[in-house]
Amino acid sequence: MAGVYTAANLTDDYRAAPSLDELSQIPLPRFFFDQTHAYDVRHRTWTTPGPERFLPPGKSGRPKNPYYLFVDRGCVGDCTYCCRPLMKKLSGRFGLRKRSVADIMAELEEVKKAIPNLHKVYVYSDDFLLWREDELAEFALAYQRRINLPFMFLLSPMSFRDRKLDILLNTGLVSFVEMGIQTGSPRVRRIYNRRESNQRILEVAGKLSKKLRPRRLAPHYDIIVDSPWETEADRLDTLRLLCRLPGPYEALFFSLTVFPGTGLYDKARDEGLLTEETYLAQFDLAAHVNRRLRISSRDGAAFVRLGQMAGALPLPFPVLEIMWRLRKIVSWAKVIPERLLTGLKNIRLTGPGAILRRAVARRRPGRRHRPARGLDVGSGG
Ligand code: SF4
Repeated sequence: MAGVYTAANLTDDYRAAPSLDELSQIPLPRFFFDQTHAYDVRHRTWTTPGPERFLPPGKSGRPKNPYYLFVDRGCVGDCTYCCRPLMKKLSGRFGLRKRSVADIMAELEEVKKAIPNLHKVYVYSDDFLLWREDELAEFALAYQRRINLPFMFLLSPMSFRDRKLDILLNTGLVSFVEMGIQTGSPRVRRIYNRRESNQRILEVAGKLSKKLRPRRLAPHYDIIVDSPWETEADRLDTLRLLCRLPGPYEALFFSLTVFPGTGLYDKARDEGLLTEETYLAQFDLAAHVNRRLRISSRDGAAFVRLGQMAGALPLPFPVLEIMWRLRKIVSWAKVIPERLLTGLKNIRLTGPGAILRRAVARRRPGRRHRPARGLDVGSGG
């Protein structure tokens, strides 16, 4: 198959892979670790690094990151900042294409064999709750029986249904749930071409929080910052929404990047916003205020910290509004450490006793790492 390297097709064929209706036609990924060579610059030698190069281990010796499992292609959205609309146009396929559960499980069984230390899977669908209830039930049953590792997934405010979430949560293996919110401003939401309302977001967040809290999980919400189309009033709208979301939660911030081919790129070009300065702010890592989050302005960094505070503490909006207005005088990102907010959020989630027990366990010699179940200890603000 053009563009797909398989055991049966080891030729170098770099043409674009065909876009298929039936995703299970795509061969399962194979891991040729013993035949993969990497040049170790420090020791000036060639190595065959093995699975730890693919998923580097953390302090525990287990991979820091999850295995990204792609279970479908497509979504029902048409967001102007996202590559998905362009990919739909290029492929000519506008619906959601799903892999069969049998095919997905076969891949994961291969992965478990190839990466024996694997302990987390990111079920990477743009919106996993778009799957039908019977499909999710089939997935949940097979996953529990055959894979039995903590997993995480994405959903959207529009796809949320109680029963669908319950099916996945009842596996007892969900470690992380992420939902796209992007903005609290109805005006910016129209620019992004997103369909949900603040009311719908709050309704879904309330249900998510209620279902995740007994499992000692905090929902994760995606927010876009650094948008040139946001006014002061729009930013305050987003902060207001963050204050109204039930906590604790983790807000994940992303700096808006206008990629060629997206609706926002065309808008930015037409409005003369694509200057060298904006290009550097987006793509030059050295220009970022916060490299990890890719926040490219000081206001963005302040906004991120205040948003993280809203997720960790039940703060009323007027307090955050005052702090936001003081951002030119006080650098909140420096004054309030991110680790402190993560700690406060975890205390609210699990109670001080659990934090203390974990700290004691960490100091005990010869302790053995146990896979996180129901609590993604690796995630943090
Ligand atoms: S942001 Fe999500 S819903 Fe919107 S187009 Fe991209 S993948 Fe689809």
